Amino acid sequence: MRIFLITMIVLLSACSTSPTGRSQFLLYSPSALDQMGSEAFAALKKQEPISHDIAINLYVQCVARATLKGLLNDDGDPDRWEIVVFASEEANAFALPGGKIGVYTGMLKVATTQDQLAAVIGHEIAHVVAEHSNERISTQAATQMGLSLANSSGVNPNVQALLGVGAEYGVLLPYSRAQESEADLIGLDIMARAGFNPQASVEVWKNMEAKYGSQPPEFLLTHPGYHTRMTDLNLDMPEAMIIYEEVKARGVHPNCHL
Ligand SMILES: [Zn+2]
Repeated sequence: MRIFLITMIVLLSACSTSPTGRSQFLLYSPSALDQMGSEAFAALKKQEPISHDIAINLYVQCVARATLKGLLNDDGDPDRWEIVVFASEEANAFALPGGKIGVYTGMLKVATTQDQLAAVIGHEIAHVVAEHSNERISTQAATQMGLSLANSSGVNPNVQALLGVGAEYGVLLPYSRAQESEADLIGLDIMARAGFNPQASVEVWKNMEAKYGSQPPEFLLTHPGYHTRMTDLNLDMPEAMIIYEEVKARGVHPNCHL
């Protein structure tokens, strides 16, 4: 009976398509994901130190809010998003369903300009827009026949990881290569529409390479390599530059300073 029910759910829900046309396996509703994202974010805010540096907070808020304007639907309303700066030397950032963005202060040493930080944030919100965490949790749930979404102490750390907390540049479950490439492509479009120079996305990976050396840390081995990412971004660059030039001509000039 249980198998039958799961099969029914799969048949009813599996047919989805990502923004770039990739077929996706999604079991959960967007509102269920929003709920999970909000709970995971609330838990993280209790676990991780939050930066109270006013200048850094104003700067990250400025870049994040400007980047969100690159989303073409209501998701681009910055008031729908909570943006928190965590005080950590980790070069990390993430976005969660439910309108949550986390930036670690260490990321500002890798993404050193407003355009570079917009590239990072654009990439992160692209993971949300393309429902990548739904995809990961759905796959996990289907293979494990019932993933416990919470444990006795609150949010299940495994679910936090599947949602994307610490996944990007940290050691927990990274996104798949297909999802990374898709987020790079969508992120480039988002930042260009927001009026940030898309070429800064390539600069971020150059900085990552300079920081971590030519041999990437172990967790990056499951990601596309730096050079693959830069090559793929450059392939999509002409189209992004056309959008960027059009947006600039309309007088959109984000101006965030640290
Ligand atoms: Zn990513």
